[in-house]
Amino acid sequence: MALIVQKYGGSSVGNLDRIHHVAEKVIKAKQEGHHVVVVVSAMYGETDRLIRLASALTQHYEPREYDVLIASGEQVSMALLSMALNAKNCPARSFTGPQVGIYTDNIHTKARILKVKTEVIQRELEKDRIVVVAGFQGVNEHGDITTLGRGGSDTTAVAIAAALKADECQIYTDVDGVYTTDPHFLPAARLIPRISFEEMLELASLGAKVLQMRSVELASKHNMPIRVLSTFSDGPGTLVTFEDKTMQKRLVSGIAFSREEAIISLSGVPRKLGMEGHILGRVSEANIEIDMIAQNASTRDDTSDFTFTVNRREYQRAMSVIEELVTELDTMINIKTNSKVAKLSLVGIGMRSHAGVATTMFKALGREGINIQMITTSEIKISVVVDEEHLEKGVQAIHQAFELDKAESDKNPPFFE
Ligand code: ASP
Ligand code: MG
Repeated sequence: MALIVQKYGGSSVGNLDRIHHVAEKVIKAKQEGHHVVVVVSAMYGETDRLIRLASALTQHYEPREYDVLIASGEQVSMALLSMALNAKNCPARSFTGPQVGIYTDNIHTKARILKVKTEVIQRELEKDRIVVVAGFQGVNEHGDITTLGRGGSDTTAVAIAAALKADECQIYTDVDGVYTTDPHFLPAARLIPRISFEEMLELASLGAKVLQMRSVELASKHNMPIRVLSTFSDGPGTLVTFEDKTMQKRLVSGIAFSREEAIISLSGVPRKLGMEGHILGRVSEANIEIDMIAQNASTRDDTSDFTFTVNRREYQRAMSVIEELVTELDTMINIKTNSKVAKLSLVGIGMRSHAGVATTMFKALGREGINIQMITTSEIKISVVVDEEHLEKGVQAIHQAFELDKAESDKNPPFFE
């Protein structure tokens, strides 16, 4: 007998038919002889609706009340699923995060889980009931309801699985698993059977929405593998787990991209100690998040070029901050911008041990006539900024260059041109 934690996302419990369908899946796992704990998200669109209500009411809501409001969506779906299970003669009980004992810090709207109590769940499991838990929420030291950030039900599931030392943590969603790139964007994208925590973390931080980033962090910290599966079709899904030999052998695992980027480039910045901090400080004081940064010294004079990217939504605000700053500095700084760029990133732990990944990537882009405007790298990631209109062609070219459309076994051994 195994202990399985299953999490169902918003689209999986999006209407009553779907809730019946989820109940059947839970019952199937139970009939196979397992203990099952189910974590649910709010019904599809519900959290957004609650957020819209709050903003329509006032722009100055208390974070405490906001959390009380947005945590309520999960309470609805947990009760409905529990009712559906009971109606099918499968004893079940639902609990909110605070009832279970999911303790968090005090940071409303993006609280972190500090401790998960298991007594309540264990007591119910011993009575042979299915335990249904509301995702996305916990309770702080004052007894106030907190929420875990958008997509936080994934983190609830992983935290419970780790605390219970579950045999499996299954995350059911509306896609078959993790793909080499977004299959809606590139039909040649292929399902990745196994991916390392580290790669998944990069992909999640780059905007892959399958799993909340914190859930991957937590899974990695507690050595709790996660299986991402579809609620609507059968299949093995993707196992997010420890690094292994096959993962190390492949050059790259996936391509992530985001369209909504803007690039701001300052040339002729006086080379003075602390200048970079001064510029970035002003931007972050305005609560604008900076993504990529590059700087290079001019060969002509004592200045440097300083380039960074921000989310396109914040581009106008970032520009006002920069224009103000340039006026203050009273030097001949030249500002160049492009608010229609996209970021394209290649992720893979194989990069650590195989040289030439960047060369293959850049050559593939070059062949398509795609100009690279900025590059950043980490141990397992290469990101480039390109014109947004070239994004699709770029993803396609790189996907092909690394044979990501082919099954692992059909691939040529590591190759470089
Ligand atoms: N309902 C929450 C959200 O929409 C949490 C989740 O779905 O994981 O962000
Ligand atoms: Mg989600």
